[in-house]
Amino acid sequence: MPTVACDLMGVPIHDVTPDETINLIARWIEDGGSHQIATVNPEFLMQARTHPSFRAALKRAALCVPDGIGVMWAARLRGARLRERVTGSDIVPRLSRAAAQRGWRIFYLGAAPGVAERTAEILQSRHPGLRVAGCYAGSPDPVEAPEIIARVRASQAEILFVAYGAPAQDLWLDQHLAQTGAAVGIGVGGSFDFVAGVAKRAPRWIQRLGLEWGYRLLREPWRWRRQLALPYFAWLVLVGQDKPKT
Ligand code: UDP
Repeated sequence: MPTVACDLMGVPIHDVTPDETINLIARWIEDGGSHQIATVNPEFLMQARTHPSFRAALKRAALCVPDGIGVMWAARLRGARLRERVTGSDIVPRLSRAAAQRGWRIFYLGAAPGVAERTAEILQSRHPGLRVAGCYAGSPDPVEAPEIIARVRASQAEILFVAYGAPAQDLWLDQHLAQTGAAVGIGVGGSFDFVAGVAKRAPRWIQRLGLEWGYRLLREPWRWRRQLALPYFAWLVLVGQDKPKT
């Protein structure tokens, strides 16, 4: 099992690399059962700080990977050196490539209507042989859950990507992944939007400088309110208050 490197706001953070994540997924698909992966960034942690149900869902996940540079930094201040970021935006294409090689079926759930289909189409053209179990926008609204579960179950997908943003996608997986029959469920936020070209990801050099959040803020200024959580997160970590509030 992957090691928990540290605990931030009551959420365990695992030290795994993208390659190790793919290897774990392979093992879980072989073993069966259901395994949830959360791609944790500081916005997740600030929500988990005050929402016990979200925190509990993340605690139950099989894997909480460090998606944001802020998580790497905070872990380091707590004496844990995380080796690499593992982002939803990297996992979607990488796991799709691995799935094409190994014959795993993937269900692409979430984002605006048509975006999951476009994402799967693009990935299939890049990785011929990719078995797309299904694509569906749906919504995290509980009234839709039975239909979505039935679709995923009927598709016999081994992997379920859910792109509803946090905390909706992670709460959805916590509640329903086992019912879908998929061995692995991953909350991937806005990742389909990047693959489908609906949103543009920061150039590599900006990602490497750890400034992806700033790029996102410039391109999508409406995020400023959400991103206000970032300086507050940094402050709480600096003063040692990275504990659950409620
Ligand atoms: N989304 C959705 N249904 C909802 C709310 C959000 O499909 O009810 C999608 C939205 O279209 C986007 C993704 O969820 O593709 C969330 O993206 P965001 O950039 O907010 O997530 P982040 O990457 O910041 O977690």
